[in-house]
Amino acid sequence: MENINRSIRCSVDECVHHCRTCDYCSLDKICVGAHESHPSEKPCTDCLSFLSK
Ligand code: SF4
Repeated sequence: MENINRSIRCSVDECVHHCRTCDYCSLDKICVGAHESHPSEKPCTDCLSFLSK
């Protein structure tokens, strides 16, 4: 049975760590970062644990 971490909601099903059957991550923990030096909006942030399928 696949792992479902209900503390990490995620809709990025292109990620290898996505729990295919529901909108959650399967990892125990993730790392979130920013690709701007002074992030001011949501689009400035990224899930750094993302791994393409
Ligand atoms: S690693 Fe990040 S992008 Fe991938 S499923 Fe988990 S939360 Fe979503």
